Amino acid sequence: MSDKRGLLVVISGPSGVGKTTITHQLVQRLGAVFSVSMTTRPKTAADTEGVDYYFVDTERFERAIADGELLEWAKVFTNYYGTPRGPVEHELHEGRDVILEIDVVGAEQIRKSMPDALAIFVNPPSEEELLRRLRARAREGEDVIQRRFSEAKREMQQARECGAYDHFIVNENLDEAINHAYQLVTDHKAAV
Ligand code: 5GP
Repeated sequence: MSDKRGLLVVISGPSGVGKTTITHQLVQRLGAVFSVSMTTRPKTAADTEGVDYYFVDTERFERAIADGELLEWAKVFTNYYGTPRGPVEHELHEGRDVILEIDVVGAEQIRKSMPDALAIFVNPPSEEELLRRLRARAREGEDVIQRRFSEAKREMQQARECGAYDHFIVNENLDEAINHAYQLVTDHKAAV
C-alpha cells in the first residue's frame, strides 16, 4: 500500500473527437490504470471482453445499480454504461492513478462523489471538423452520422454548462492534445 492515494482522471468528449486514443496514450504515459466499464451495448468486432468493456445484459446491469456496485452510470442512446466501483477504489488506495473515459452525465456524478478528481473534456477544433471526422470514419449511414453530430453538439454544450470539468482541451493535432492532457494531469499532481 502507498501512503499517497492515486488521482482519479475523467476524460470525456463527443463521439469522433479522438478521446479513446487520447485516453489510452495517457494511460501509458502516466503508468495509470484504465477503468473498464460495464455496458449493455452489443460487443463489436473491435471490442475485447474485459479489456474495452465488461459486456452484460440489462438484468445484470440493473442489479449492479441496485447493489451500489457502480461509482457512476448513465444511459447513452439506448444502452447502459457504468464504472465498477471496487477496482477504482482499490487502485486509488494503492496509490495508482485511474482514468475513466465516460460521458458528461457520468462526469457530473463523479464531480459530486469524488470532488478531488480531475476532469478533462476534449473538444473538436470546430463543429465542421467534427462532422468531417464522423463522415471520414464512414462506419455508418448519413442519418446515423447526423444523429451522432446532433448528440455531440448537445454533449459539448452540456459539458460547458454543467460545471463538472476542470479543463477543456482541443484535439486539432493528436500529439499536441495528448501532450496537453498529460501536462494538465502532471501539473495537477505536482500541486496537490
Ligand atoms: P462507445 O459505445 O462508443 O464505446 O461509448 C459511448 C459513450 O459512452 C462514450 O461517450 C463513452 O465515453 C461513454 N461511456 C463509456 N463507458 C462509460 C461509463 O462507464 N460511464 C459513463 N457514464 N459513460 C461511459
